[in-house]
Amino acid sequence: YAKNSGSGLHVYEKGLDANETPERLALTAELRQGISAGQLEVYVQPQADLRTGLVLGVEALVRWRHPRHGLLFPDTFIPLAERNGLIPQLTDAVLEQAVAACGRWRRAGHRLTVSVNLSARSNLNDNLIASVQRLLNRHAVPADSLTLEITESSVIRDPGRTRMVLDRLHDLGVGLSIDDFGTGYSSLSYLRQLPVQEVKIDKSFVMSMLTEPGDAAIVRSIVDLGTNLDLAVVAEGVEDAATWAELERLGCTNMQGFYLAPPMPLAGFIDWLAAREGHLAEAR
Ligand code: C2E
Ligand code: MG
Ligand code: MG
Ligand code: MG
Repeated sequence: YAKNSGSGLHVYEKGLDANETPERLALTAELRQGISAGQLEVYVQPQADLRTGLVLGVEALVRWRHPRHGLLFPDTFIPLAERNGLIPQLTDAVLEQAVAACGRWRRAGHRLTVSVNLSARSNLNDNLIASVQRLLNRHAVPADSLTLEITESSVIRDPGRTRMVLDRLHDLGVGLSIDDFGTGYSSLSYLRQLPVQEVKIDKSFVMSMLTEPGDAAIVRSIVDLGTNLDLAVVAEGVEDAATWAELERLGCTNMQGFYLAPPMPLAGFIDWLAAREGHLAEAR
């Protein structure tokens, strides 16, 4: 069963990938250990209401604090984790930190949502549902404060099973979002068949929407589709005020991007939020 990964490699479903180079096999072993040793760190990137600019929540983005290589970005190790069966452990580690933070923020009076990415090769199974439920209970976080982001490719891979697991997560009250929307090859009809409340426009379209008419058309179409289906539409990759303004004109509902803030360590987020709210209050 072949899948086209982001790197353009064709990879195959197996426990351990026999095609890995010795370097990658070593890194995989380090990743496996690193996950148990707590080397994965969650960074968070704020998401705001596009019209008011109010911060509604964050997306959790994983980093690996490698003992020798320093801070590694997901594109260097997620594909490795996907090919070597480490996604369940990785997802659990990220969910744990993200939901725990959400609980702390709530108890400090901040009602914020947190979004967590599921891999296309994710553990869409009973264990995932059980982990989610256990974490929400343990940290006293209401289910609707958590959103799980899935990609179009995970939907295509196994529509039947995806549908079943997503229905059960939806029954729990967890929010569901389609990430990187527009980059997949699936039909649009699953947007109506799956219990999703949100689509995220891929940053590749947003970042060039002011200069490339084709990308602008795609953004406009996704916003219209989302609006007509009553979904929240999040634009990611908003890097300047002009793009923000154009997205507002189009009726996009939420934004995320370097213009608001880049991903930051979890521990610094509440200070960042307080500083931003301070500036907004001064500007009023
Ligand atoms: P994504 O979920 O689409 O996340 C958005 C990515 O866009 C993040 O990169 C973020 O830093 C970047 N980004 C946000 N705003 C801007 C902007 O204005 N300009 C530019 N140039 N980039 C922006 P990051 O953190 O490197 O994550 C890359 C991808 O790795 C994510 O894409 C997601 O697919 C995957 N990923 C991240 N964390 C996790 C995780 O915990 N689990 C899984 N399975 N995948 C993850
Ligand atoms: Mg995402
Ligand atoms: Mg995305
Ligand atoms: Mg993306």
